Formats: sequence, structure tokens, C-alpha cells
Amino acid sequence: MGETVLRVAFIGLGNMGGPMAANLVKAGHEVVGVDLSEEARAAFQAAGGQVATSAVEAVRDVQAVVTMLPAGKHVRAVYTGADGILAHAPKGTLFIDSSTIDVDSSRDVAKAASEAGMDMVDAPVSGGIVGAANGTLTFMVGGPDAAFERAKPLLDIMGASIVHAGDAGAGQAAKICNNMLLGISMIGTCEAFVLAEKLGLDPQKLYDISSKSSGQCWSLTSYCPIPGPVPTSPANNEYKPGFAAPMMLKDLLLAEEAADSSGANTPMGEKAARLYEEYCNNGGENVDFSGIIHLLRKSG
Ligand code: NAD
Repeated sequence: MGETVLRVAFIGLGNMGGPMAANLVKAGHEVVGVDLSEEARAAFQAAGGQVATSAVEAVRDVQAVVTMLPAGKHVRAVYTGADGILAHAPKGTLFIDSSTIDVDSSRDVAKAASEAGMDMVDAPVSGGIVGAANGTLTFMVGGPDAAFERAKPLLDIMGASIVHAGDAGAGQAAKICNNMLLGISMIGTCEAFVLAEKLGLDPQKLYDISSKSSGQCWSLTSYCPIPGPVPTSPANNEYKPGFAAPMMLKDLLLAEEAADSSGANTPMGEKAARLYEEYCNNGGENVDFSGIIHLLRKSG
């Protein structure tokens, strides 16, 4: 697609979708946005976008569609059925679903897209709202080579790192495997600090040693859950998100669902989901996911 100006429908102009769609506008594409929220639509208009009153209306004469919706049920509802966008977009339209959703929904919708004669990729992101605003997201992409090649120029505008992970659903699979590992490693890191506190070991000493030993991991050296050792980590900013605990819980529940449906044994992932559930129900709902150290201290 190169430098060609495309007409793109963008469905879901929330915290992530709004700034992502605005970056497509800035790059010169003609973008028509859709959202249930009046406020989200107004913000997108202020950023230079057009808005449509329904997804079906928005996709009528486009070359590409990006969706950034909360969960699998929203994606299924928007894409499939007689009122779905797959039934109303021109044949051959490129669909990019950047929502973080369950692998089964992602594969079902990709199959429906292919049956409708469309190109589709799942392309969930990491990088949060700052990455969305700055166009520096990482996209983990699943889908056929041809669809990936078509999607890449648009993804390059919204992101800094674009990885083709495999066939349909592979982007979602990569995202939830990574975030399950992150949830587990964050809890492990917190537990090490809680134990150090009980043993009278200076937490800075634990950091100095573990950051250069076999316990080293991203949760420790980039996102340290105690204030001090890593000045940019949310622990130094009253545990303000960052990456909020309920978002981590969402991803851990998706990982659990995927483990159930694929028969994978993930006992630590399940335990991490239970702990984040407990944390989100007991004061963690607006806190960064590293704040789970408070729950671990309390239940010690
Ligand atoms: P959000 O709730 O801010 O935005 C979702 C938007 O979709 C809302 O504005 C909502 O009104 C709209 N919407 C829902 N149903 C719709 C429909 N049928 N038609 C049109 N619009 C509809 O959520 P967000 O933070 O932008 O996250 C979107 C996705 O990105 C989620 O899957 C989330 O897990 C994922 N994600 C978020 C972050 C983050 O830091 N916020 C990071 C990575 C991935």
C-alpha cells in the first residue's frame, strides 16, 4: 500500500484507540471513527478525524478497518452476523483487530473474515497509552503473510516494533503468554522483597545482588516493585499505573482460558490470576500491578 492515502474505519476510540486513530490521521489517511461514547467521538473529531454513527456505515467504502475494543464478545458482535462489519465492508477489505481478546474468539473471527473474502490480522499491542500516543507500540501480529504485508504500513504508523508471530490468533497467543510470564515474575519479585524484609535484609542489597544474579528479570530491573532501586518504576510514584492491576488480571484470565481450552498445564499462571483477583477486589483496582506487594505483605 506504500504511501497511498487510504480510507480507514477505526472502531473503538477509547484510551488506546483514540490516540492510535489520531496517528493515522496525522500520517495523512482519511479516517472515519466509530465509538459508542459521544466523548470519544468528539475527541477524535478534535484530532482531525471524521465520525460515523454506526460501524456498518463507517465500513461501506473503506480499504482498511482497525478495531480496538474491550473484549472478545465486543469483537464478535462488531464483526459477525447480519449486522456485522464483515457483511458490509467491500470484498478484499483489510481488517486489523488490535484489541486484546481470547485466542478462540480471535481465530473464529479470522475464519469468518476469510470466508467473507477479507484479509485479516490480529494485532494486539503492548506499550500502553503513552505508546499509543507516541506511535511507539509493539504489535504482535497473527495472520497470513499477505494480510501481514498489507497491514504493516498502517502498523508502522502506530507502532515502533511490528512482529509477525504466526497464523491467525498467534498475536493474541504471544500477548497472553508474555503477560502471564510477567504476572508470575512480578509476584515472584514481590515475594523476594517481602521475604527479605522479614529476614532483615536491606532491600537495596537484594536488588544489587539479584539484578546481577540468576533472579534477574524485567519485573526487578525495569519495574522494581519497591521504591528506590529503579527511579522510573511506579513504586516511586505511589504505585500509580503504569499498567493497572485489573489489566493484568484481564490478561491472566485470558491465559487461564487459553490454557483450559488447549489443555496446557499452567499452575503458576492460575495462582497469579487468583492473587490478582484478590488484589483487585481489595483495594488494587486503581493501582499499578506492582502494587500487589501490598497484598503479599498483608497476608504474610
Ligand atoms: P477503552 O475502554 O478505553 O476503549 C474501548 C472503547 O471501545 C470505548 O471507548 C468503548 O466505548 C468502545 N466500544 C465498545 N463497544 C463498542 C462498539 N460496539 N462499537 C463502537 N465502540 C465500542 O479501552 P482501551 O484501554 O482503549 O483498551 C482497548 C483494548 O486494548 C483492550 O482490549 C485492552 O485490553 C487493550 N490494551 C490496553 C492497554 C492500555 O494500557 N489501556 C494496553 C494494551 C492493550
